[in-house]
Amino acid sequence: MNTRWRLINRAVYRLRYTEKPCPVCGHWIENHPFAICFHCMWECDPVCDKRHNYAGGPNKMTLNEARRAYRKGIPVL
Ligand SMILES: [Zn+2]
Repeated sequence: MNTRWRLINRAVYRLRYTEKPCPVCGHWIENHPFAICFHCMWECDPVCDKRHNYAGGPNKMTLNEARRAYRKGIPVL
């Protein structure tokens, strides 16, 4: 098995069973519906993560706002 294949397999495994990429910054975080990303401080929420313009979850920002803020280097609230 070559290295590239192994890396893909590991990513698939992490995605399915243990970790998921943060919807805002893409860092690996705990695979839990209410996980908190300690890189950008986004708090996952099953509603916010699906409805990108929904405000009123655990975060002050919507997912789209948080992504824009993260790209500009503004802290995610
Ligand atoms: Zn994040």
